[in-house]
Amino acid sequence: MFWSLKLLTVRGIPIRVHASFLLVLFYAAYIGFSSRTGAGWSRGVIFMVAFILLLFLCVVMHELGHSLVAQLFGVKVQDITLWPIGGVARMTRLPERPYQEFLMTAAGPATNVLLAIFLGILALVIIGPQQLLDVLLSPWLLNVTLAEMSGLSLLLLLLVNNVILALFNLIPAFPMDGGRLLRSFLAALIPFGRATAIASVVGQVIAVIMTTLALLTGNFTLALVGAFVFIAALGERRQATIHANFQGLRVRQAMQSIGPRLHPLQTLGEAASLAATSPQAAYLVVDGGRLAGALLRSDLLAALRRAGPAARVGQHVRRNVAQLAPDEPLERLQERLDDSPAAVVVEAGQVIGVITQGDLVHLAELLAVHAEALPRG
Ligand SMILES: [Zn+2]
Repeated sequence: MFWSLKLLTVRGIPIRVHASFLLVLFYAAYIGFSSRTGAGWSRGVIFMVAFILLLFLCVVMHELGHSLVAQLFGVKVQDITLWPIGGVARMTRLPERPYQEFLMTAAGPATNVLLAIFLGILALVIIGPQQLLDVLLSPWLLNVTLAEMSGLSLLLLLLVNNVILALFNLIPAFPMDGGRLLRSFLAALIPFGRATAIASVVGQVIAVIMTTLALLTGNFTLALVGAFVFIAALGERRQATIHANFQGLRVRQAMQSIGPRLHPLQTLGEAASLAATSPQAAYLVVDGGRLAGALLRSDLLAALRRAGPAARVGQHVRRNVAQLAPDEPLERLQERLDDSPAAVVVEAGQVIGVITQGDLVHLAELLAVHAEALPRG
């Protein structure tokens, strides 16, 4: 991913931080700077920067909570990236069963609850039960303690923020954790696709309310989060519809015939003439009986614009196309085509078909209208 820096790897999961995160640090430093005057400004800066770094450490642990439970259920976690708005763990797919999604999702907020308990015990040891209770129950006293910018204020601030993180994530707005919990709960009772549809509608309604309230009160960060939730809920719903439509189908049923082949030394102009008379989403490029790769229709158009009709096919061929078996389930294909938009279907060492991301989109559109268009196994 561009603009992101890998910090470390935990259990094979790269943890990255996006460059825009630096803005948050600068902003925190600025807040720290302006909240203290005279000789004390450096203390304010150190305090705020330390707070943000530790808070994001808690966010990483939240995402690791999701990720480690996901790994238990055999889900591959691609990476965890820290954005200014929070952390995102990218997984290649959902776990098979609703209870697994439930546990995987619950592990995130549960991590924050555990962190809050740990920090609470630490504060208990430092200031004793009576004073801790006084501070936590009185907003005024809490504010005074936080304003001191001491080690204790840092501890309490992190304690409070972990409680907020757990509660905020449990708001049932898809795709936040609360929405996912709702979806997995519904999916145990009704089909997955309908469960997702309901959870994302609930999520969008809450997102609209959240954004409206945030705009009315001038909280632009929250409004941004609301807009983000709204768009993400829409995407999740589309993804789930595709997933549900592909259930019980195999790669063999969705693959396209090989069609005419190209040679790496042919020109783009020749390929264009071929594309005009026998349209395919992808053409196999074969050199002396050996598969050199695939030329996507979209790549051909881009290459024609950039390099002109005299350029050779070989310079614009995609060489790292995925190879699929004809009996692989179609639902798993989406994630494999994320890395390479075209794949060849190979049976007994022979290429028997090609399939592209575009083919899948078209098939999903068709199945959404008429689910019985293909027989399901
Ligand atoms: Zn989470």
